[in-house]
Amino acid sequence: MALQFITEIQTYFETIPDLHRTLILWGGLVFFYLVEYAIPLIRFEYKKLNHAGVNVFFTATTILVNVLLAFILLEASEYVSAHHFGLLYLVQSPPWVFLISGLLLLDLIGAYTVHLVEHKVRWMWKFHLIHHADTYVDATTANRHHPGESVFRFVFTTLAVLIIGAPMWLVMLYQSMSVVLSQFNHANIELPAFVDRGLSFIIVSPNMHKVHHHYEQPYTDSNYGNIFSIWDRLFGTYKYLPADEIVYGIDTHMEPHENAAIGNLLQIPFQPYRAPKKKA
Ligand SMILES: [Zn+2]
Ligand SMILES: [Zn+2]
Repeated sequence: MALQFITEIQTYFETIPDLHRTLILWGGLVFFYLVEYAIPLIRFEYKKLNHAGVNVFFTATTILVNVLLAFILLEASEYVSAHHFGLLYLVQSPPWVFLISGLLLLDLIGAYTVHLVEHKVRWMWKFHLIHHADTYVDATTANRHHPGESVFRFVFTTLAVLIIGAPMWLVMLYQSMSVVLSQFNHANIELPAFVDRGLSFIIVSPNMHKVHHHYEQPYTDSNYGNIFSIWDRLFGTYKYLPADEIVYGIDTHMEPHENAAIGNLLQIPFQPYRAPKKKA
């Protein structure tokens, strides 16, 4: 039964049509747009569509970078699968162990690690800062990445595939989950506290990721997780701040003409580095 389910997942994601991937992304945005309307965490005084416009622009550039480079990921994945090369092939494991450990490792190397590095390496931080500069975090913030950041996230995903030996269906499954779960944890929604807290022991919950969007250190440098929350707890990067104490943005770029204008956001990586006003 479980085996048949995994085989079905594998078959579907091996040949997932581009249309389905597109529907997952935009369908998720529309879905969370409605949920944000129904159970908002914060009643933002903002022009929701204007705000979405900037973030949708950066979502579109993220998609473009990934579409243009997709052939590299495909090549890498076909190579490791054909040669049974990578961590997943070190031990013979049942399909469900292969599936879970594959997702966990893709999350660790392709998401948590690159995110942590982006916070520690100055020139990379200047690209990643665009994600943090949003002062109204909602579902559209999830894919607000500078195109340069999209490139080095892509490089880490490809490295992860090579180290792990991830087949393409697993990468597609991971990325589909990542799109929706990242919209979920950025969404401006209020879940019952026990639900949010309960979820945060397995996956990155909305309140857990919002802490990462607090405008001051040391909270900016915490909760790097993408899908699974285990890495932050394991590596000591987990922090908690009550939702009503969180202020979104980044203290070096709190002015709308800097953090809400596409032209300036594209240029931030090439402007001089600004140290955080509040030290960690
Ligand atoms: Zn970050
Ligand atoms: Zn975020």
